[in-house]
Amino acid sequence: MTDHALYRSHNHHDSRPHVVIVGGGFAGISAMESLAKAPVDITLIDRNGYHTFQPLLYQVAAGGLNPGDVTMSFRAIAARQPNVRFRHGNVVQVDTQEQVVTLHDDTKITYDYLFIATGVTANFFGIPGAQEHSHIIYTRRDALATRDHLFSRLETLAQSVGKEGEFNIVVVGGGATGVEVAGAMAEMAVEALPRAYPELDPNKIRVYLVEMGEELLAPFKERIRDYTAAALEKRRVILKLGTAVEEITDDEVVLSDGSHIASKSIIWCTGVTAPEDVKRWQLPQGPGGRVLIDPECRVVGFQNVFAGGDVSADTVEPLPQLAQPATQHGTHVAAQIERLLAGEPLEPFQYDNKGIMATITRNAAVAQLPGGQTGATCPGAGTSTSSSATCTPNKASANISARQTASRGIRAGAPVLMRARPTRKRLGRAGTAGWCGPVCCCSRRPG
Ligand SMILES: Cc1cc2nc3c(=O)[nH]c(=O)nc-3n(C[C@H](O)[C@H](O)[C@H](O)COP(=O)(O)OP(=O)(O)OC[C@H]3O[C@@H](n4cnc5c(N)ncnc54)[C@H](O)[C@@H]3O)c2cc1C
Repeated sequence: MTDHALYRSHNHHDSRPHVVIVGGGFAGISAMESLAKAPVDITLIDRNGYHTFQPLLYQVAAGGLNPGDVTMSFRAIAARQPNVRFRHGNVVQVDTQEQVVTLHDDTKITYDYLFIATGVTANFFGIPGAQEHSHIIYTRRDALATRDHLFSRLETLAQSVGKEGEFNIVVVGGGATGVEVAGAMAEMAVEALPRAYPELDPNKIRVYLVEMGEELLAPFKERIRDYTAAALEKRRVILKLGTAVEEITDDEVVLSDGSHIASKSIIWCTGVTAPEDVKRWQLPQGPGGRVLIDPECRVVGFQNVFAGGDVSADTVEPLPQLAQPATQHGTHVAAQIERLLAGEPLEPFQYDNKGIMATITRNAAVAQLPGGQTGATCPGAGTSTSSSATCTPNKASANISARQTASRGIRAGAPVLMRARPTRKRLGRAGTAGWCGPVCCCSRRPG
């Protein structure tokens, strides 16, 4: 034990069971909110002071949204729920014997029930130079670093007008995140930059999308994949399919077909792994070091420790790493804790698949429903939450969450580029609650 007293949220009832939630993403917040009326005290711990809406981080990177548009203070969220206290801190250790989690500053927090919902980070698969020379978009910090890098490169290019110079942006990974990022970068290059950087020749800005598989958006049907490829090529994205990244150096990407792309701007959008801290917690691990859970969402071998969302790996049915499974896990874990409190048996988790969607650009998106129906292009997609609602079959996850986030009071700020002005007509019903920004959130990322 250190100087820090054993921490328990002050002002809470010492006699009530203490639920500790590590990570305030989709899974953690959904569990927290679902326990609002339960006779428990909750401590929500996050290494950031704010909740991050990951599905729109790429728009922060592309300059279409500002960081405040996709984040919200945990203090504000916790203030709405009397049985919650927020603790800012990075959990570095979990002692399941003593039922204690330890923070980076050695504070120790006891729990009766623990929910691990830390999310994941990028996996570089040991590819030489990938980690050192790529940008990732998992946190607000990542998105801002990517944005600062891109705009500083553009300024450099603008100052060298007349001299030889080109700007190649290389997006690695042809899943939904890579498609979204490539689409946003292409849109920025084709539509926004000519206005913001009139001195630049748009032909000198190229966006590459590199995917080792033969297709983009592998979990989607062929028609959708073809549409996506055509939509990106129409916006001058250069597709390198069936091509793996072999190495990334300070100034180029080396590909498996022997070609090289000169670039200092690589955005890594493929592969996930559990955060290093979590891998050290001596919990059973599945693919990518993710925490193995049983059908009841408990960490395998533990009665009172649950995991959910991206960081969890289901032993029976692997789930995609998306907002919907995370949100549903959170709700289920909350219900399981209530069942344990009531002495009732636990129930297995059943995923309610609402379909998958991906945004390509502001006026192009694709969707595939559980029944097999598909759709491409969403008129008005990307202009408001209400238009995304009309194109969102069966209330797809990220859009719902975006509207929840919007209803928490987040407003669009003053993004760098491509700002669309919200109008009452565009906002529709969502307009009464708020507006999440110029790009719709109906995209879903196949895992
Ligand atoms: C660029 C991008 C685009 C995406 N687009 C979509 C999309 O369109 N649709 C969709 O459905 N999904 C999308 N996803 C996936 C979706 O965002 C995730 O599936 C979802 O966020 C997972 O929720 P989670 O609660 O498991 O984790 P997260 O949302 O990642 O939250 C984890 C939280 O844990 C905190 N944390 C981590 N480690 C610690 C620690 N040691 N101590 C304390 N706190 C910690 C983090 O700060 C974070 O707040 C996208 C993801 C990315 C990166």
